[in-house]
Amino acid sequence: MTCSLIKGTDISAGIYDEIRDRIAKLRECGVVPGLAAVMVGNDPASQVYVKAKEKKCAELGIRSEMIYLSDNITEEHLLSKIKQLNEDKMIHGYLIQLPLPDHIDTDKIINAIDPKKDVDCFHPENVGRMLVGDHVFLPATPGGVQQMLIRSGISTEGKHIVVVGRSNIVGKPMAALMMQRGIGGDATVTVVHSKSKNLSEITRQADILIVSIGKPLYIKKDMIKEGAVIIDVGVNRIDDPDSPKGTRLVGDVDFDDIKDHVSAITPVPGGVGPMTICTLMDNVVKAAELSIQAQK
Ligand code: NAP
Repeated sequence: MTCSLIKGTDISAGIYDEIRDRIAKLRECGVVPGLAAVMVGNDPASQVYVKAKEKKCAELGIRSEMIYLSDNITEEHLLSKIKQLNEDKMIHGYLIQLPLPDHIDTDKIINAIDPKKDVDCFHPENVGRMLVGDHVFLPATPGGVQQMLIRSGISTEGKHIVVVGRSNIVGKPMAALMMQRGIGGDATVTVVHSKSKNLSEITRQADILIVSIGKPLYIKKDMIKEGAVIIDVGVNRIDDPDSPKGTRLVGDVDFDDIKDHVSAITPVPGGVGPMTICTLMDNVVKAAELSIQAQK
Protein backbone atom coordinates (compact mmCIF):
# COMPACT_ATOMS: atom_id res chain seq x y z
CA MET A 1 0.00 0.00 0.00
CA THR A 2 1.26 3.50 -0.85
CA CYS A 3 1.56 5.46 2.34
CA SER A 4 1.71 9.25 2.33
CA LEU A 5 3.59 11.17 4.98
CA ILE A 6 1.65 13.94 6.71
CA LYS A 7 4.42 16.40 7.44
CA GLY A 8 3.74 19.05 10.04
CA THR A 9 6.83 20.92 8.89
CA ASP A 10 5.30 21.45 5.41
CA ILE A 11 1.74 22.12 6.54
CA SER A 12 2.79 24.61 9.21
CA ALA A 13 4.89 26.53 6.64
CA GLY A 14 1.66 27.45 4.80
CA ILE A 15 -0.05 28.49 8.03
CA TYR A 16 2.96 30.64 9.01
CA ASP A 17 2.59 32.58 5.73
CA GLU A 18 -0.96 33.46 6.82
CA ILE A 19 0.22 34.30 10.34
CA ARG A 20 2.95 36.63 8.98
CA ASP A 21 0.31 38.55 6.99
CA ARG A 22 -1.81 38.95 10.14
CA ILE A 23 1.21 40.13 12.14
CA ALA A 24 1.97 42.73 9.43
CA LYS A 25 -1.62 44.04 9.69
CA LEU A 26 -1.33 44.24 13.47
CA ARG A 27 1.92 46.18 13.17
CA GLU A 28 0.17 48.65 10.83
CA CYS A 29 -2.19 49.30 13.76
CA GLY A 30 0.81 49.77 16.08
CA VAL A 31 0.43 46.40 17.80
CA VAL A 32 3.30 43.93 18.12
CA PRO A 33 1.95 40.59 19.40
CA GLY A 34 3.60 39.57 22.65
CA LEU A 35 3.96 36.12 24.21
CA ALA A 36 5.35 35.29 27.64
CA ALA A 37 6.28 31.79 28.78
CA VAL A 38 6.76 31.03 32.45
CA MET A 39 8.98 28.13 33.30
CA VAL A 40 9.33 26.90 36.87
CA GLY A 41 12.38 24.73 37.55
CA ASN A 42 14.75 23.32 34.96
CA ASP A 43 13.11 20.24 33.47
CA PRO A 44 15.26 19.62 30.35
CA ALA A 45 12.32 18.69 28.07
CA SER A 46 10.40 21.82 29.12
CA GLN A 47 13.49 23.94 28.46
CA VAL A 48 13.68 22.58 24.92
CA TYR A 49 9.98 23.39 24.32
CA VAL A 50 10.31 26.92 25.74
CA LYS A 51 13.42 27.62 23.61
CA ALA A 52 11.60 26.37 20.50
CA LYS A 53 8.72 28.77 21.20
CA GLU A 54 11.14 31.67 21.72
CA LYS A 55 12.90 30.89 18.43
CA LYS A 56 9.63 30.73 16.50
CA CYS A 57 8.49 34.06 17.99
CA ALA A 58 11.76 35.66 16.85
CA GLU A 59 11.31 34.28 13.31
CA LEU A 60 7.76 35.64 13.07
CA GLY A 61 8.29 39.02 14.72
CA ILE A 62 6.32 38.19 17.88
CA ARG A 63 7.79 39.82 20.98
CA SER A 64 8.61 37.13 23.51
CA GLU A 65 9.51 37.15 27.17
CA MET A 66 10.79 33.97 28.77
CA ILE A 67 10.42 33.99 32.54
CA TYR A 68 12.55 31.40 34.36
CA LEU A 69 11.64 30.83 38.02
CA SER A 70 13.31 28.60 40.58
CA ASP A 71 11.58 25.30 41.42
CA ASN A 72 11.33 26.31 45.07
CA ILE A 73 9.23 29.36 44.25
CA THR A 74 6.08 29.63 46.43
CA GLU A 75 2.58 29.36 45.01
CA GLU A 76 1.91 32.95 46.16
CA HIS A 77 4.95 34.23 44.25
CA LEU A 78 3.84 32.44 41.10
CA LEU A 79 0.30 33.81 41.50
CA SER A 80 1.70 37.34 41.83
CA LYS A 81 3.68 36.80 38.59
CA ILE A 82 0.46 35.71 36.91
CA LYS A 83 -1.32 38.83 38.15
CA GLN A 84 1.44 40.97 36.61
CA LEU A 85 1.12 39.15 33.29
CA ASN A 86 -2.67 39.54 33.35
CA GLU A 87 -2.17 43.32 33.67
CA ASP A 88 0.75 43.68 31.22
CA LYS A 89 -0.54 45.45 28.08
CA MET A 90 2.48 44.35 26.01
CA ILE A 91 1.75 40.66 26.66
CA HIS A 92 -1.26 39.46 24.67
CA GLY A 93 -0.91 35.82 25.62
CA TYR A 94 1.15 33.72 27.98
CA LEU A 95 1.59 30.17 29.09
CA ILE A 96 2.79 28.37 32.16
CA GLN A 97 4.97 25.49 31.06
CA LEU A 98 3.75 22.25 32.70
CA PRO A 99 4.44 20.18 34.71
CA LEU A 100 4.79 22.39 37.80
CA PRO A 101 6.58 21.20 40.95
CA ASP A 102 4.41 19.10 43.32
CA HIS A 103 4.07 21.82 45.99
CA ILE A 104 2.21 24.07 43.53
CA ASP A 105 -1.49 23.48 42.84
CA THR A 106 -1.60 23.41 39.03
CA ASP A 107 -5.40 23.93 38.85
CA LYS A 108 -5.15 27.03 41.05
CA ILE A 109 -2.46 28.45 38.77
CA ILE A 110 -4.40 27.72 35.58
CA ASN A 111 -7.56 29.23 37.06
CA ALA A 112 -5.66 32.46 37.77
CA ILE A 113 -4.74 33.02 34.09
CA ASP A 114 -6.86 35.67 32.36
CA PRO A 115 -8.86 33.57 29.85
CA LYS A 116 -8.25 36.28 27.20
CA LYS A 117 -4.50 35.60 27.50
CA ASP A 118 -4.74 31.83 27.92
CA VAL A 119 -3.06 30.88 24.63
CA ASP A 120 -2.53 27.26 25.73
CA CYS A 121 -6.32 26.96 26.14
CA PHE A 122 -6.05 25.33 29.56
CA HIS A 123 -8.36 27.64 31.52
CA PRO A 124 -11.75 25.99 32.24
CA GLU A 125 -13.57 28.88 30.51
CA ASN A 126 -11.67 28.23 27.27
CA VAL A 127 -11.98 24.45 27.61
CA GLY A 128 -15.74 24.88 28.08
CA ARG A 129 -16.06 27.20 25.09
CA MET A 130 -14.15 24.72 22.94
CA LEU A 131 -16.45 21.93 24.15
CA VAL A 132 -19.64 23.79 23.22
CA GLY A 133 -18.18 24.70 19.80
CA ASP A 134 -17.67 28.43 20.52
CA HIS A 135 -13.91 28.54 20.95
CA VAL A 136 -11.68 31.58 21.22
CA PHE A 137 -8.44 29.62 21.31
CA LEU A 138 -7.84 26.03 20.29
CA PRO A 139 -5.67 23.76 22.43
CA ALA A 140 -2.31 23.67 20.66
CA THR A 141 -1.82 19.98 19.90
CA PRO A 142 -5.43 18.97 19.12
CA GLY A 143 -5.94 22.18 17.13
CA GLY A 144 -2.75 21.42 15.20
CA VAL A 145 -3.84 17.86 14.46
CA GLN A 146 -7.22 19.10 13.22
CA GLN A 147 -5.51 21.55 10.83
CA MET A 148 -3.20 18.78 9.67
CA LEU A 149 -6.14 16.62 8.69
CA ILE A 150 -8.04 19.46 7.04
CA ARG A 151 -5.05 20.75 5.09
CA SER A 152 -4.03 17.23 3.99
CA GLY A 153 -7.51 16.76 2.52
CA ILE A 154 -8.35 13.94 4.94
CA SER A 155 -12.05 14.18 5.68
CA THR A 156 -13.18 13.32 9.19
CA GLU A 157 -16.90 13.41 8.41
CA GLY A 158 -18.58 10.14 9.38
CA LYS A 159 -15.21 8.49 10.06
CA HIS A 160 -14.58 6.38 13.11
CA ILE A 161 -11.77 8.14 14.97
CA VAL A 162 -10.17 6.32 17.88
CA VAL A 163 -8.18 8.52 20.28
CA VAL A 164 -5.72 6.58 22.43
CA GLY A 165 -5.01 8.54 25.64
CA ARG A 166 -7.23 10.84 27.70
CA SER A 167 -4.89 13.58 28.93
CA ASN A 168 -6.38 17.03 29.50
CA ILE A 169 -3.81 18.45 27.08
CA VAL A 170 -4.27 16.07 24.15
CA GLY A 171 -6.71 13.14 24.37
CA LYS A 172 -9.81 14.78 25.85
CA PRO A 173 -9.77 18.00 23.77
CA MET A 174 -8.80 15.98 20.67
CA ALA A 175 -11.94 13.86 21.04
CA ALA A 176 -14.04 16.98 21.64
CA LEU A 177 -12.78 18.67 18.46
CA MET A 178 -13.30 15.61 16.29
CA MET A 179 -16.96 15.32 17.35
CA GLN A 180 -17.81 19.01 16.77
CA ARG A 181 -20.14 19.87 13.92
CA GLY A 182 -18.41 21.07 10.75
CA ILE A 183 -15.22 20.74 8.74
CA GLY A 184 -12.52 18.88 10.63
CA GLY A 185 -15.16 17.32 12.87
CA ASP A 186 -18.39 15.36 12.34
CA ALA A 187 -16.59 12.13 13.29
CA THR A 188 -17.73 9.21 15.41
CA VAL A 189 -15.24 9.22 18.25
CA THR A 190 -14.07 6.54 20.65
CA VAL A 191 -11.56 7.28 23.42
CA VAL A 192 -9.46 4.53 24.98
CA HIS A 193 -6.98 4.69 27.87
CA SER A 194 -4.96 2.50 30.20
CA LYS A 195 -8.07 0.96 31.81
CA SER A 196 -9.75 0.10 28.49
CA LYS A 197 -10.27 -3.57 27.76
CA ASN A 198 -9.50 -5.17 24.39
CA LEU A 199 -7.62 -2.10 23.17
CA SER A 200 -6.48 -3.70 19.90
CA GLU A 201 -10.02 -4.69 18.99
CA ILE A 202 -11.05 -1.05 19.27
CA THR A 203 -7.99 0.49 17.58
CA ARG A 204 -8.48 -1.93 14.65
CA GLN A 205 -11.86 -0.29 13.99
CA ALA A 206 -10.33 3.15 13.50
CA ASP A 207 -10.41 4.87 10.12
CA ILE A 208 -8.24 7.50 11.79
CA LEU A 209 -6.15 6.54 14.82
CA ILE A 210 -4.80 9.36 17.02
CA VAL A 211 -2.29 8.18 19.63
CA SER A 212 -1.04 10.18 22.63
CA ILE A 213 0.14 7.87 25.42
CA GLY A 214 3.88 8.47 25.85
CA LYS A 215 4.81 4.81 25.28
CA PRO A 216 7.54 4.41 22.63
CA LEU A 217 6.61 2.30 19.58
CA TYR A 218 3.53 0.89 21.35
CA ILE A 219 1.14 0.71 18.39
CA LYS A 220 2.02 -2.20 16.07
CA LYS A 221 0.67 -3.55 12.79
CA ASP A 222 -1.76 -5.96 14.48
CA MET A 223 -3.47 -3.00 16.22
CA ILE A 224 -4.50 -1.09 13.10
CA LYS A 225 -6.90 -1.46 10.20
CA GLU A 226 -5.34 -1.79 6.74
CA GLY A 227 -5.44 1.64 5.06
CA ALA A 228 -6.05 3.67 8.23
CA VAL A 229 -4.71 7.19 8.78
CA ILE A 230 -2.34 7.35 11.76
CA ILE A 231 -1.62 10.49 13.78
CA ASP A 232 1.23 9.92 16.22
CA VAL A 233 1.37 12.58 18.94
CA GLY A 234 3.91 10.78 21.13
CA VAL A 235 7.46 12.03 21.47
CA ASN A 236 9.80 9.65 23.28
CA ARG A 237 13.57 9.49 23.46
CA ILE A 238 14.98 5.96 23.24
CA ASP A 239 18.50 4.55 23.26
CA ASP A 240 19.99 4.02 19.83
CA PRO A 241 23.63 2.91 19.70
CA ASP A 242 23.65 3.54 15.90
CA SER A 243 22.83 7.22 16.29
CA PRO A 244 25.70 9.70 16.87
CA LYS A 245 24.00 10.95 20.08
CA GLY A 246 23.26 7.40 21.32
CA THR A 247 19.54 8.21 21.43
CA ARG A 248 16.77 9.15 19.03
CA LEU A 249 13.19 10.41 19.10
CA VAL A 250 10.34 8.04 18.30
CA GLY A 251 6.57 8.24 18.52
CA ASP A 252 4.02 6.06 20.28
CA VAL A 253 3.54 4.26 16.98
CA ASP A 254 6.01 1.78 15.51
CA PHE A 255 6.40 3.65 12.21
CA ASP A 256 8.55 1.00 10.44
CA ASP A 257 6.23 -1.83 11.46
CA ILE A 258 3.05 -0.23 10.14
CA LYS A 259 4.03 2.15 7.32
CA ASP A 260 3.25 -0.34 4.53
CA HIS A 261 -0.24 -1.02 5.91
CA VAL A 262 -1.61 2.50 6.33
CA SER A 263 -2.72 5.16 3.84
CA ALA A 264 -1.13 8.09 5.67
CA ILE A 265 0.97 8.64 8.78
CA THR A 266 2.69 11.47 10.64
CA PRO A 267 6.45 11.08 11.18
CA VAL A 268 8.21 11.68 14.52
CA PRO A 269 9.90 14.13 14.56
CA GLY A 270 8.44 16.51 11.96
CA GLY A 271 4.78 15.50 12.33
CA VAL A 272 2.50 16.76 15.08
CA GLY A 273 5.23 18.70 16.98
CA PRO A 274 5.56 21.56 14.44
CA MET A 275 1.75 21.85 14.28
CA THR A 276 1.53 22.28 18.05
CA ILE A 277 3.84 25.28 18.07
CA CYS A 278 2.11 26.68 14.99
CA THR A 279 -1.29 26.60 16.73
CA LEU A 280 0.22 28.33 19.76
CA MET A 281 1.54 31.12 17.50
CA ASP A 282 -1.87 31.37 15.85
CA ASN A 283 -3.45 31.77 19.31
CA VAL A 284 -1.00 34.54 20.26
CA VAL A 285 -1.81 36.49 17.11
CA LYS A 286 -5.51 35.95 17.73
CA ALA A 287 -5.14 37.29 21.29
CA ALA A 288 -3.45 40.41 19.90
CA GLU A 289 -6.22 40.84 17.28
CA LEU A 290 -8.89 40.49 19.97
CA SER A 291 -7.12 43.06 22.14
CA ILE A 292 -7.58 45.64 19.35
CA GLN A 293 -11.27 44.77 18.98
CA ALA A 294 -11.72 45.14 22.75
CA GLN A 295 -10.36 48.70 22.57
CA LYS A 296 -12.84 49.75 19.83
P1 NAP B 1 -0.17 11.86 29.52
O1 NAP B 1 -0.68 12.98 30.34
O2 NAP B 1 1.16 11.27 29.79
O3 NAP B 1 -1.28 10.70 29.59
C1 NAP B 1 -1.11 9.51 28.89
C2 NAP B 1 -2.46 8.95 28.54
O4 NAP B 1 -2.25 7.71 27.86
C3 NAP B 1 -3.33 8.64 29.75
O5 NAP B 1 -4.66 8.96 29.46
C4 NAP B 1 -3.15 7.13 29.93
O6 NAP B 1 -4.29 6.49 30.48
C5 NAP B 1 -2.98 6.68 28.50
N1 NAP B 1 -2.21 5.45 28.41
C6 NAP B 1 -0.99 5.19 28.94
N2 NAP B 1 -0.60 3.95 28.62
C7 NAP B 1 -1.59 3.41 27.87
C8 NAP B 1 -1.77 2.17 27.26
N3 NAP B 1 -0.86 1.19 27.33
N4 NAP B 1 -2.91 1.96 26.56
C9 NAP B 1 -3.86 2.93 26.48
N5 NAP B 1 -3.74 4.14 27.04
C10 NAP B 1 -2.61 4.38 27.73
O7 NAP B 1 -0.27 12.15 27.95
P2 NAP B 1 -0.02 13.38 27.01
O8 NAP B 1 0.29 14.63 27.75
O9 NAP B 1 -1.16 13.34 26.07
O10 NAP B 1 1.34 12.95 26.27
C11 NAP B 1 1.47 11.74 25.59
C12 NAP B 1 2.66 11.77 24.65
O11 NAP B 1 2.48 12.81 23.71
C13 NAP B 1 4.01 12.03 25.31
O12 NAP B 1 4.98 11.29 24.60
C14 NAP B 1 4.22 13.51 25.09
O13 NAP B 1 5.60 13.86 25.06
C15 NAP B 1 3.61 13.67 23.73
N6 NAP B 1 3.13 15.01 23.40
C16 NAP B 1 3.53 15.51 22.21
C17 NAP B 1 3.07 16.74 21.81
C18 NAP B 1 3.48 17.27 20.47
O14 NAP B 1 3.36 18.43 20.21
N7 NAP B 1 3.94 16.40 19.57
C19 NAP B 1 2.22 17.50 22.63
C20 NAP B 1 1.82 16.94 23.84
C21 NAP B 1 2.27 15.69 24.21
P3 NAP B 1 -4.83 6.80 31.98
O15 NAP B 1 -5.54 8.11 31.86
O16 NAP B 1 -5.74 5.67 32.26
O17 NAP B 1 -3.62 6.87 32.85
